[in-house]
Amino acid sequence: METILDRQDPQIGALVKNELERQRRCLELIASENFASEAVLAANGSILNNKYAEGYPGRRYYGGCEFVDQIEELAINRVRKLFQAEHANVQPHSGSQANMAAYFAVMKPGDALLGMDLAHGGHLSHGSQVNFSGRIFTVHTYGVREDTELIDYDALLKKADEIKPEVIVAGSSAYPRIIDFAKFREAADLANAVLVVDMAHFAGLVAAGIYPSPVGLADIVTSTTHKTLRGPRGGLILCKKPLAKQVDGQIFPGIQGGPLVHVIAAKAVAFGEALTPDFMDYQHQVVLNAARLAANLADAGFRVVSGGTSTHLALLDLRSKNLTGLAAEQALEKAGIATNKNSIPFDPRPNTITSGLRLGAPALTTRGMKEPEMDQAAGFIVEALSTPNDDNRLKKIRQKVETLCQLFPLYPNM
Ligand SMILES: *Cc1c(COP(=O)(O)O)cnc(C)c1O
Repeated sequence: METILDRQDPQIGALVKNELERQRRCLELIASENFASEAVLAANGSILNNKYAEGYPGRRYYGGCEFVDQIEELAINRVRKLFQAEHANVQPHSGSQANMAAYFAVMKPGDALLGMDLAHGGHLSHGSQVNFSGRIFTVHTYGVREDTELIDYDALLKKADEIKPEVIVAGSSAYPRIIDFAKFREAADLANAVLVVDMAHFAGLVAAGIYPSPVGLADIVTSTTHKTLRGPRGGLILCKKPLAKQVDGQIFPGIQGGPLVHVIAAKAVAFGEALTPDFMDYQHQVVLNAARLAANLADAGFRVVSGGTSTHLALLDLRSKNLTGLAAEQALEKAGIATNKNSIPFDPRPNTITSGLRLGAPALTTRGMKEPEMDQAAGFIVEALSTPNDDNRLKKIRQKVETLCQLFPLYPNM
């Protein structure tokens, strides 16, 4: 179908079309990605793009905010209902900016931040030296135990007690198990620290009641809106009433200017979707699919970090197959399977190569795939990684991948 974009800017139009076809034809197993609904995309691509609305509903620095005020209020009310939160800020442009505002709300430069080691599943914005968080704050890290690959809560409590950080941040990008927020609360209380939980990856599972909610235990909860939550790219912050003013002030005017009203509208649509029973069924299937994928790969001789998964993602240790994360990611890409290399805990290889591969089920589950398709997907992965340098064989797998994808049409109206 020819669009306005195709007519006015054929170069960009064609590239967007190519990307749509790529999304349609490949098995999307990147754990942080998902396919937003057409309604979410419509709001995101709407004329709301044109509006400046610095400030908050009812307190704007610009006129003409009658309707965008109602949009932001709907987004706030829906997300508060979804997570039973006292206060919500839906303006963060991204998960990283949500974290920045959360930290600035309760820390000064130089204060101590205790976050999860990036190599153990943490996120750049939890204190990496190449990130603002590591440059502005004094960072200490906790991690997982080498034997169980589960968070070492005893070490966390000890470190919190010793360092007395101003903030402890929980949450991760590659931890396949449930985080014990009560233990983090205990650690924060021991240190008299503020507890920030970054639920960027598993917010959708929390919304569906499958993953324990950090709301209530944490002082501040941050998230992205585009991962399991399946909304537009963006962030959000939830907090208790007494912190509301500080948090809001750190988003605007603290670190951001005008909010992206079109994105806020798309967030409202996604929160509305997340409040439906369909969304709960979806998240249940996400977890079933991830477990099925992991079980298949374990049966094929891959070591699954922590022995499996309780969430939407699994992490493979490729060392027993004599493969690096980088080589596996590249071979799978040739076979039409999108994944990402990922460090595993205590990884001997640098993070540009890694020994691990992260796989997630949210995107394929959105396409309607269930356990039988996970069996097929795992079979393709096993086959591709058995001969990662055989381009002919990878091409043949790619054809099988495309055949499977065609049975689960993506964006059929586009
Ligand atoms: C993805 C992620 C973020 C960052 O989100 P962006 O929107 O890419 O900035 C923050 N924290 C965690 C734990 C994440 O997984």
